[in-house]
Order: sequence, then C-alpha cells, then structure tokens
Amino acid sequence: MEFEPVIGLEVHVQLRTSSKMFCSCASDYQTAEPNTRVCPVCLALPGALPVINRRAVEFAIMTGLALNCRVARITKFDRKNYAYPDLMKGYQISQYDVPICEDGWIELPPADAQAQAHRVRIKRVHMEEDVARLMHVGGAEGYTLMDINRAGVPLIEVVSEPDLESPAQAEAYITQLQSTIRYLGVSTANMEEGSFRCDANVSLRPRGTRGLGTKVEVKNMNRVRAVGRALEYEIERQTQVLSKGGRIEQETRGWVDDREVTVSQRSKEEAHDYRYFPEPDLPPLEIDPAWVEGLTASLPELAPARRSRLMSDYGLSEYDAALITAVRSTADYFEAVVGARPAGAEAAAFAKEAANWINGEFARLAAARNGEGPAVTPENMASLVAMFQARTISNAAAKQVLAEMFQTGKGAAAIVEEKGLKKVTDVGSLEPAVDQAIAANPGAVDDYLKGKETAVRFLVGQVMRASKGRADPVRAAELISEKLNARKS
Ligand SMILES: [Zn+2]
Repeated sequence: MEFEPVIGLEVHVQLRTSSKMFCSCASDYQTAEPNTRVCPVCLALPGALPVINRRAVEFAIMTGLALNCRVARITKFDRKNYAYPDLMKGYQISQYDVPICEDGWIELPPADAQAQAHRVRIKRVHMEEDVARLMHVGGAEGYTLMDINRAGVPLIEVVSEPDLESPAQAEAYITQLQSTIRYLGVSTANMEEGSFRCDANVSLRPRGTRGLGTKVEVKNMNRVRAVGRALEYEIERQTQVLSKGGRIEQETRGWVDDREVTVSQRSKEEAHDYRYFPEPDLPPLEIDPAWVEGLTASLPELAPARRSRLMSDYGLSEYDAALITAVRSTADYFEAVVGARPAGAEAAAFAKEAANWINGEFARLAAARNGEGPAVTPENMASLVAMFQARTISNAAAKQVLAEMFQTGKGAAAIVEEKGLKKVTDVGSLEPAVDQAIAANPGAVDDYLKGKETAVRFLVGQVMRASKGRADPVRAAELISEKLNARKS
C-alpha cells in the first residue's frame, strides 16, 4: 500500500517585548546573568498577581492579522497544569478555548512553474508564557541548574491545520512564517537561539483517502532544515511500521540532530491531561475593535506583497525580488539604493544592477563582517552601481571598491579616484598595451587571421592583465579587431 503524509506544525514564537508577559521584569534573558530578571510574579511567590503586558497582546494581534486570522472581541487566559521543574507556578498561563486569533492562512508560493500556490490554514494563534531554563550538568550522576530569567517571557503559539503534504512544504511554511514574524518585528524568530521553536505532527494514511492516521509529535529541531529531515525520517519510520502491519503509537519523539533519528520521549498528552481551567487571577480581555483597526493600519507591507510590487515597480525578476524581500532590512536597503539613483542612470537597468550587487557581492561582504565596521550608505552604494552601469569601472574594480567601502566607509567615487580604478577607454591610453599584446602573441594573431575570431579574447586578456584590470575590455576588443582586420586586407 502507498501512504501519504499529513503534517501540521505548531510554532512557539518568543515575543520581543521589553518586559515579561505578566510582570515588569526585563525579558532580555539571553544576555542577562542567570536569575537577575526575577520578581515575586515570575518566581511564583504566594500572593503575587499577574498583569497582562499590553505590548505582547499587540504583537499577538499583529501576527494574527498578518496571518489573515480573525481577532477575538473577548479572549481569556487559562491555566495549563503539568508537573515539570521548569514551571515555576506548577501551571502555565496559556489560552485554551478562546484564543486571541483564529482561522487564518498562509499561502506558500508555487514550488516550480508547474505547481500551484498552496494555502495552509492557520487554526489559531494564542498567547502564553515561557518557562525557566534548566541546565543539566554532568550526566546521570550530575545535577541541574535553573535560570528563571526566561520564565514569564511572552510567547505566542501559531498552530496550523494538518494541511502540509511534504517535508519540503513544511520547510517552506516555516520559512514564510519566520519571514512574516521578522517583517512585523515582533520577534527575532531565531531557531538556533530558541526564539522560534517548531514542533511537527505527522501521520500517514493510504494515498487518496481522507481519514487521519495516528499522529506522532516530533520536537527538538533547531534549524529549518532539521524540521524537514526529522519529517523525512519519521515518514520513513512510520511507513516501515505500517507496511509490516504494525500500529503507530501516539507519542512525542525527539529529533537527535547529530544521529539524524527521532527517539521516543513519552506518550503524547491529551488536552484533558492538563486540567485546563480559566485563570482566576486575570479577567477576560476585551479587545476594542478600534485598537485592532489601528494595528491593522500600522502593519508593514509583508514579503509576498512587497515581492509583487518590486517586480512591477522596478521590473525585477521573480527570483531577484524573492531574494531581495526575504529579509525586510535588505528590501529597505534596496529601495533606499534605488531611491538614491544618480541622475542620468537608466531606471530599470539600475534597479536590476542594484539587485544583482545587493544579492551578490554586497550580501557576501556584509555576512562576512557580521554587522561590524562602517555602514555602506545607500547613497554610496547607488553611486557604485551607477559607475559600474556606466562602465566607468570594471566588474573586478567595482568589487574592489565595495570591499574598500566596507573597510573605510568612504564614498565610491573617492575610492575610484584614490586607487586609480577608472576604466581606461580612450584609444591613446589603450593603444600601447594593445600593440604590445599583438606583438608578443604572433600565434594568436595568426589564429585570428585564419578566421578564429575567439583569438581576440585571448589578446584582450593580455591587455587586461597589462592594465591590471583597468582597461575597458569592450573598447580593447574593438581596437584589437580593428588593427588585425587592417592586416587582413
Ligand atoms: Zn518578574
């Protein structure tokens, strides 16, 4: 029998508010000394009462709106009870039956030209609080350290319907959700740091049927690719079990990244295991529609819309536009560079060239320096692109200028001047090198005269080398052909 996978994803996103979900402690737990961001509320001392963080609610609503969800008029918090030492109160304040946002969707772009866009329904977005961090030291005989700074940091959980049909689609979904969250600026959405955590539910069913098989939850993936790998592994494992007539256990499995396997952790809890009940310390939260309207108006243009606009406004290809808009700051930078286009540069060609440089050499150099050193201003970048476009400098020279801009923060024109990188295009300056190349390479000249036109390329190479890359190769080629053609007659 042939099986098909049914996949749903649950993603926990840590919100980038300055304080915690229910107290005024700072939420910068990543960089803070352990146990320095605590108070009676997040330590769960008796009698301490939670207060809802307004900004966290706004971030949850913004996320819901960006995911095409309906925002609740009235929402409430509930206690989720379970016993684990990272849970300060012995329960987690979460949302059970009335989440803040419901019924949205994400549209995944077609995987290739033949495919169609795939819509994944979002079941709900709800708010909750993070738990303390446990650090196990020294194996089975060891002990456990506890850092309570993270306890109470605001989280949202984005739950999809089981609408994903393959590991590749799951990766695309995560990538797009991550991009949306980052565009909104509500989280760093960094999987390695744990501010974006994805659990995957996967089951198999006979291909073409509608029912759902027993699902397994897979956890502990800390890269987008690991989610895909874990799902591939799990689909294969379940296929083996079912093909031998076995039964799938409903359970939670952990992905072990270095061994590339999933291992059983525990049998999966049902909702009733958590004994949810309404949080008595927090009244239901009424959400004023005017508040939601204001947030709707404040939403930034998101990646899919921006991609389409860059294609129509600047004539970028889908590929270039997708690369540019993948990260909001890159898209902002691109538009600033295009906005700083010097007079005289042809608009569409300039935008295309700017996209090439920003996606290529600029991205490479920026990644290498990791945010340090002087910034390359959009104006400086625009002037570099314009000089390259006008063929004032060669490709090699432009790369050299850009590297220098990253080093010194100087303007492109100043660097070109200082280093004498301007392309040599005038015949008077090119001629000696051209004559020298012709004189020194009788073999290539002979080839050319016998009709092998590509021999010109070799001679141009000699000219480029002699001029240390400054000669204009197009002008040099013209000059060489001219001189050799004169010999033919
Ligand atoms: Zn606190």
